[in-house]
Amino acid sequence: MSSFVFSEKPLRIERGEGVHLYDDSGTAFLDFGASYAVTPAGHCHPDVVEAIREQAGELLYVQGSYPVDVRDGLYERLSSLGPGDCDRVWLCNSGTEANEAALKFARSATGRSKIVATTRGFHGRTMGALATTWKDEYRDPFEPLAGGVEFVEYGDSAAMAEAVDDETAGVILEPMQGEGGINPAPEGYLQSVREACDDHGAAMILDEIQTGLGRTGAFWAVEHHDVTPDVVTTAKGVASGLPMGATLCRDWVAEDAGPHGSTFSGGPVVAAAANATLDVLVEEDLPNHAAAMGDHLLTELQAAIGEDVREVRGEGLMVGIEVKRGANRLLPKLAMSHQLLALPAGRSVLRLLPPLVVDEEHCTRVVDALSEVVG
Ligand SMILES: *Cc1c(COP(=O)(O)O)cnc(C)c1O
Repeated sequence: MSSFVFSEKPLRIERGEGVHLYDDSGTAFLDFGASYAVTPAGHCHPDVVEAIREQAGELLYVQGSYPVDVRDGLYERLSSLGPGDCDRVWLCNSGTEANEAALKFARSATGRSKIVATTRGFHGRTMGALATTWKDEYRDPFEPLAGGVEFVEYGDSAAMAEAVDDETAGVILEPMQGEGGINPAPEGYLQSVREACDDHGAAMILDEIQTGLGRTGAFWAVEHHDVTPDVVTTAKGVASGLPMGATLCRDWVAEDAGPHGSTFSGGPVVAAAANATLDVLVEEDLPNHAAAMGDHLLTELQAAIGEDVREVRGEGLMVGIEVKRGANRLLPKLAMSHQLLALPAGRSVLRLLPPLVVDEEHCTRVVDALSEVVG
């Protein structure tokens, strides 16, 4: 039996450790996709596994309104890690839910309903978040979606200034687009979004679900820009693969966030996994390691295949290689001939989002494999 939603891959994965996945014949695959950035600390980091085991034996679940040490510990960690003064924390179970909450909070805090989103943006697949996701392919079968969303060209400051007005509750965007093709924000763009929001009292919502947790060489990608958002969302790798999302807000948004809730908000086992993951990210200094490895990888890729592709771009360990012909056709060859797992981003971009614990040798293997397959 297989899922009617996911298309099956020919590999049957049995085990993960560090930067490797192992199939049912014991073959090791270098995992430069990390199942869409879900394992920043590496597969089955021993601290995370131990924290889950311990917590599972103590308390699997108690409702969110009871204070529990492990959940309070997570509130504290996320609160102190949040960019700027985004230190009020809502916990949920996925990326789309974190954005769903962000959109609700922005509406409630401003008393307005219009949302501005960007072309090629991806914010999730539940009805509200989907309304801010750009691709028709994801939207069309499910129309009508939540209303009041206006799309503007990603990177166009003038279009943003024009779209944000006194009816706008919030602007939602990624500091570097992931699904949309690894598109970094142009210089000065996030500042201009900040100004547009300030001019009209709208909430600036940054979706850092793919870019956050050290991925781009800083804990949050927004740290590369001189800006503080009003709301930041995270998910993907925050609990190393257990389901978790979080919405971090400034006071003015949190204070008027309105009624919201979720049964599993900050469940103890997931919270334990998140605490351990965040501790590993901080203690092993993984954002800085990602910056160094990312520089190395980008430089080596540029030198090895720069001439054969349209562009190599990205920041830290969020790398896109825009190839001249379909990216998808390269993935099976990388997997089967080179035991390298990567991801697509749209039709023409090959995407690398490895665990942040990769070393130079892993990067060299990837560069060698790509020069053979792409070159
Ligand atoms: C993956 C992703 C989401 C959705 O997260 P889910 O956990 O799949 O709901 C939202 N925004 C961005 C930028 C993402 O990369």
